Amino acid sequence: MVNSCSNPQCGKPLHYLREGRIFVFDAVGAAMETTGRRTCCLEHYWLCGGCSLLFTLEQTYEGIHLAPRSRPSFVRKALDVKWQLR
Ligand SMILES: [Zn+2]
Repeated sequence: MVNSCSNPQCGKPLHYLREGRIFVFDAVGAAMETTGRRTCCLEHYWLCGGCSLLFTLEQTYEGIHLAPRSRPSFVRKALDVKWQLR
């Protein structure tokens, strides 16, 4: 259960879902039934409002990582066009 911001430098307690962002990742391989069938479950993470503006969460083979949030591509393109026009 999510009870605080997933940014280890923050740790803000989760009281309301109206701010921030919820991330849901497949926890593949986290549980194996005794029959050998692979089961899948979902893991939930939350970044508070302040952290979700600056960071995102990414899933790699090594686990879940906090990563800097980049600007959307349409913003980058708009800025590139602006710079080219000068
Ligand atoms: Zn936070």
